[in-house]
Amino acid sequence: MTGAPHDDDDTYEDWQRRARALALPTAHLIGGAPEPGGGATFTVVSPRDGRPLAEVAAGGEAEADAAVAAARRAFDRGPWPRLAPAERGRALQRLADLVEHHRDELALLISLEMGKPVTEARDIELRAVAATFRWYGELAGKLTDEAPHTPGDALALVTREPVGVVAAVVPWNFPLTMAAWKTAPALAAGCTVVLKPAEQSPLSALRLGALAAEAGLPDGVLNVLAGQGPEAGRALGRHPDVDALAFTGSTEVGRHFLRYAADSNLKRVWLELGGKSPNIVLPDAPDLERAAATAAWGIFFNQGEMCTAPSRLLVHRAVADRVVDAVVERARTLRIGDPLDPATEMGPLVTAAHRERVLGHIAAAHRDGARLRAGGEAALPGTGGPYLRPTVFDRVGPQMRLAREEVFGPVLAVQVFDTPEEAVRIANDSVYGLAAGLWTADLSTAHRMSRALRAGTVWVNCYEEGGLEVPFGGVRQSGHGRDKSAHALDKYTDLKTTWIRL
Ligand code: NAD
Repeated sequence: MTGAPHDDDDTYEDWQRRARALALPTAHLIGGAPEPGGGATFTVVSPRDGRPLAEVAAGGEAEADAAVAAARRAFDRGPWPRLAPAERGRALQRLADLVEHHRDELALLISLEMGKPVTEARDIELRAVAATFRWYGELAGKLTDEAPHTPGDALALVTREPVGVVAAVVPWNFPLTMAAWKTAPALAAGCTVVLKPAEQSPLSALRLGALAAEAGLPDGVLNVLAGQGPEAGRALGRHPDVDALAFTGSTEVGRHFLRYAADSNLKRVWLELGGKSPNIVLPDAPDLERAAATAAWGIFFNQGEMCTAPSRLLVHRAVADRVVDAVVERARTLRIGDPLDPATEMGPLVTAAHRERVLGHIAAAHRDGARLRAGGEAALPGTGGPYLRPTVFDRVGPQMRLAREEVFGPVLAVQVFDTPEEAVRIANDSVYGLAAGLWTADLSTAHRMSRALRAGTVWVNCYEEGGLEVPFGGVRQSGHGRDKSAHALDKYTDLKTTWIRL
């Protein structure tokens, strides 16, 4: 399929036709070439209709060894870390161009493998992916090191050196955005990379690897290893020749990676993990309609499969009915459907097993005494896909599972508060600390509460906003280390001091 510029009038039929013509990559990409590996495969099922989509190579220790060896060769003997940084940057910018050129194809691969509406994949995810490679591509040639003031008989240089071979293990919810947030800064820094996509979404990542080769990244600089987490992911986590591991995924699997590092070579591990983000609406919010619309959009966007989803709506008693009624209304009217249909606003959840987990949270909320206001059940049973109705519970108590555990689906927990202090207390009563939202017109309240909220990002009178220039990541059990911005380079570089007696 070619990357002809897209047409905003693309119809359902256009996308279906393109999907039928799509070539699906199924081999690892190691040392710049497709590599089928030892013969083991796994089935990627499309949540669109529950049908098998592709048989993809399943990497284990042998394939992880081969991918890490290719990355090691490219780092130790290849040109990449030694190139002028601006030249590395140009290669990343060529990759950004190719991502833009192939955005329909990449959007389709994402939509078919994990179920998000294809137009959102194209207009939101692919735009972010191209922007990420472009941003780090531009940054690569603009970095400087330090020469601190020293005594007259000495010169000190503090230089940043690439850490070496980086493994990036990423989830399926934003398969290429997460891949780009890891690989772009690592590559800009001069590292070489083995990318391990989630087993639910390997196709888009394998295609990205091929585009990187086409963009002129030398062989072995970006390798893509497909496979199951407990095999391919574990093999990278325990690999003695991986220098740093950047992970995005669940808090539970994040713990595994810390153990893998402890049990192997103490590689540095960076973790972007789960969340249970509070979204606080005060009665003086500048625009309550917008606050409610954004609360609904935030929890239902991407099927609720968002680490930053504002899954706890904390709303002041004085405005609770107004805000919650508007969210419930939106839940009832949201259009669920085939992700290839441009009219669809919410696709299926990623897998049938994931929908079962989400339904388990819904059952627990009923048992715990929360009140169901919308949804709460499977949708579109005739399709064969794991669709779910957007769900809202109110009267959620602070000790209920729904207030404490990440659902990673379109399920909102509403809690009511009476004072800003109580809102902050409820918001911070979580093991997580990824993001928070806050709606108020009062500047002092906004600053005071933002300071008090324990979260990597606080959005005031908005949600999910921000560009590549700001860092992204969590505190507490939402992880540590930052993606995006120049700060991400810290994860992929070591500081070296050279002290010279003159
Ligand atoms: P997951 O933790 O199950 O899987 C993530 C990756 O880890 C996949 O590549 C998977 O193959 C691998 N993996 C799974 N088990 C493994 C094991 N035992 N050893 C080694 N690797 C293993 O997460 P998921 O279901 O793909 O994604 C959902 C989770 O990701 C949610 O918790 C969500 O909050 C989180 N997430 C966080 C961010 C963030 O930036 N903080 C962004 C997106 C998603």
